[in-house]
Amino acid sequence: MVKVVKFGGSSLASAEQFAKVGNIIRSDESRKFVVPSAPGKRNSKDIKVTDMLYDCYALADAGEDFRIPLMKIKDRYDSIINGLNLKLSLEEEFKIISENFKNKVGVDYAASRGEYLNGIIMANYLGYEFLDAADVIFFDEDGSFDAERTHKVLAKRLDNMENAVVPGFYGSNPDGSIRTFSRGGSDITGSIVAKACKASIYENWTDVSGCLVADPRIVENPQPIKVITYRELRELSYMGASVLHEDAVFPVRKAGIPINIRNTNDPEAEGTMIVDSTCQKADYTITGIAGKKGFVAVSIDKDQMNSQVGFCRKALQAFEENGISIEHMPSGIDTMTVFVHQAEFEGKEQQVMSSLRRLVNPDYTELEADIALIAVVGRGMKSQRGTAGRIFSALAHANINVRMIDQGSSELNIIIGVANEDFEAAIKAIYDIFVVTRL
Ligand code: ASP
Repeated sequence: MVKVVKFGGSSLASAEQFAKVGNIIRSDESRKFVVPSAPGKRNSKDIKVTDMLYDCYALADAGEDFRIPLMKIKDRYDSIINGLNLKLSLEEEFKIISENFKNKVGVDYAASRGEYLNGIIMANYLGYEFLDAADVIFFDEDGSFDAERTHKVLAKRLDNMENAVVPGFYGSNPDGSIRTFSRGGSDITGSIVAKACKASIYENWTDVSGCLVADPRIVENPQPIKVITYRELRELSYMGASVLHEDAVFPVRKAGIPINIRNTNDPEAEGTMIVDSTCQKADYTITGIAGKKGFVAVSIDKDQMNSQVGFCRKALQAFEENGISIEHMPSGIDTMTVFVHQAEFEGKEQQVMSSLRRLVNPDYTELEADIALIAVVGRGMKSQRGTAGRIFSALAHANINVRMIDQGSSELNIIIGVANEDFEAAIKAIYDIFVVTRL
């Protein structure tokens, strides 16, 4: 049995955190492949090493003196090395980094050094081999991740290794230069490594005990989710719940490897299992609630709309022409409403409206801003009577006016539109009815 373990920045922010991570890895010998992030924040006022690197490189790029900021970064690593009593010096590595900064080799190279150096420390601390991600994770000419080449090379390398540390977040371009994934991308590296070594599980260690039913900034002490499917997670992440990088699920999902979100600061907690499918019932009818503020509802009315072939397509073309993506589109007989992101729409509002006039010549249009969308997600909803009824009676009791309802045909989610100002109260009311009172 092989497990891949990825540790986030807060799990590796200091020597104390490294020691916790060491204990976790040593307590289970199947934890053979380790993917570290760069050191994160030690407290709320601290700065992540990745951000320090971006700032430091910006100075280098502008031809300014970057020696002091680079020393501060080195200090962060030295305090980890000293705190762990390691016989390791990063002196030479920092000379090379400084030289490369002077030569302006690129911002991705700069950012990647956070995980690269943490990987060297981690390998030294554990006595594991260090496998530079630049040698095994590849991007293609147009900058997309090259899954095929990566899998071929990485699987072969890991096959010959007892254990290894592969730094997260970066790989290399066809010309050998360094390229990073988007922020939070070490999650993706972990997933790629798990697929390549055919791991039985991908453990993603962070600073929370898994996914929560609702956002803890809105609901006090929300319950953790024990098991969630990839599809449910995708719905919730899309609506703002942040647990994993969005792209991290794809490699393992295809390979049928579950992800286990765990808490470095509470290693006994089972965390959340993210699986392809499960017959396990969720603890509650709903699996989770998430949402986002800041949408505009564009209502379009036209008599006999339902009998005009191609009306919807033409109406949507007005948005497409102006590069606006569409979020939801509930419709009636002679009316349709299109929900779009307010920030994206505001600057192009009049262009979209004139395209609409030209393409479908509506009888009446109306724009309503400051709407929040809430997704109530759960695989258990389709087999339960009255789920929607409970949601709407909870909202009615909380005096919240529902502006839109959209239930996907998969019955995996119900999307509800409310005014921005009712957003938090609506989430609390839905959480209360399903989780607290369990009516
Ligand atoms: N260190 C990178 C970041 O801060 C990548 C990661 O942590 O996953 O985004």
